[in-house]
Amino acid sequence: MNLQRIFSLLITACLLAAFSAAAQDGQLDLSSAGDSLYPELGSSGFDVQHYTIRLQTPMDENAITAEAIITAVATADLEQFNLDLVSLNIDNLTVNGESAEFSRSGSELMILLPQPLSAGDSFEVVIQYHGMPTPTQDPSLGARLGWNFADGLVYVVSEPDGAQTWFPANDHPSDKATFTLEITVPEGFVVAANGVLEETTTQDGQTTFRWEMRQPMATYLATVNIDRYVEFESESAEGVPLRNYLPERYSRFNDRVFGRQGEMVDYFSNIFGPYPFDAYGAVVVDQPLGFALETQTISLFGSSILMGDADDVVAHELAHQWFGNSISLEDWSDIWLNEGFASYAEWLWLEHTEGPDARDAAIAEAYGFMSGDGWQEFGLTNAQIRAELMSMGLTGSPDPDNLFNAAVYYRGGLTLHALRLVVGDDAFFEILRTYAGQYTYGNATTDDFFAIAEAISGRNLEKFKRDWLYVIQIPSIPAMRLFPPNLGDSN
Ligand SMILES: [Zn+2]
Repeated sequence: MNLQRIFSLLITACLLAAFSAAAQDGQLDLSSAGDSLYPELGSSGFDVQHYTIRLQTPMDENAITAEAIITAVATADLEQFNLDLVSLNIDNLTVNGESAEFSRSGSELMILLPQPLSAGDSFEVVIQYHGMPTPTQDPSLGARLGWNFADGLVYVVSEPDGAQTWFPANDHPSDKATFTLEITVPEGFVVAANGVLEETTTQDGQTTFRWEMRQPMATYLATVNIDRYVEFESESAEGVPLRNYLPERYSRFNDRVFGRQGEMVDYFSNIFGPYPFDAYGAVVVDQPLGFALETQTISLFGSSILMGDADDVVAHELAHQWFGNSISLEDWSDIWLNEGFASYAEWLWLEHTEGPDARDAAIAEAYGFMSGDGWQEFGLTNAQIRAELMSMGLTGSPDPDNLFNAAVYYRGGLTLHALRLVVGDDAFFEILRTYAGQYTYGNATTDDFFAIAEAISGRNLEKFKRDWLYVIQIPSIPAMRLFPPNLGDSN
């Protein structure tokens, strides 16, 4: 995700006690994936392999009729299991072809297995459902997450927990799966979703678009966008297929806003390793969204992207295809592994296109903001600046109500630049490539990243990691003569 105008955001941390609903005394908590920030998300006891979502929507009202076919493997002996699903009505539910009893409590869907499963057993769940999708409210940005119907169009942005507003899911990035999205809409509408558009068929005034996402994807990255889109197809110089979807009335903006996308794909492939998916591109939603999201293979932008120079945002969302999408989080508290890396990629693109001085100027500006130095010009007192820095939270462990805080983005990016200055360019880029390669299509933690950084650089980075990620006071970057200001005693 990318925050526009983050400098003007008032960031107020709510110190919600993070409690762990993970396994207690060896008991599996079926209702949780064990996330440290969001214990209510996801489930345990099984591993989803593939979701097929067949969904129909009339487009003149917010309504869906759908069938989800979920194939999974039990990872424990099970008599029941859970999925996440917000508010939609279930019409029928079977497991391995047998009708299964279920109950619901909030967003938890508890399913009683007709026959118990042993660890290692494969099983198939089929759920028919319908209703009016209800987006969840994101506490950080105030965005409406999940299936959004607005002014005759649909868009889906779900980070972190919106997927369960439109399909039953193990809604946590630790359980990735491949997807088939088969979406039926009135003829004339176009569906832009993840992966490759395999088939389009029209019958009786209804058009079905079948999209296949063949590499594993976290549930929050699944997207369906429906509008009267114009499609632009092209290819990067090195052969990565590109397809953009813009609303008809904005189609003239494609070249200006996304004109360098192919060049970016090739540049990042060169420094991070091969582009990890079958295709890339962008979809523009005809709504003035204040954010963009790196939905897998097809990043989503609001129409505000069209107003100015957007290369930084375009580069940011593209970099997420490696960092966040191909490599997913194991725990939401490590969100800097997504946002710090994508923010740093903006500076790498700047370095590539405008040179190291432009990069350093951008880094110095971000350092001024994150150290408190840049706040003094707004007339804030030292005590107020200290309070603001405190309320942002820590890069390596954000508050659950402030997941997308500025420290995660800017200090996360600064952390990578500081690491580069400590280990040198050769080791640094080898670290990035090795990390991207070793965890392709998998999940990683902050410790996994630093284990690679230590192995390649031959340095002990324990103190570096702690000081940059888990301490409020920002470290200095002596090589750039960047030092935190003296803000006086905190009290
Ligand atoms: Zn981002």
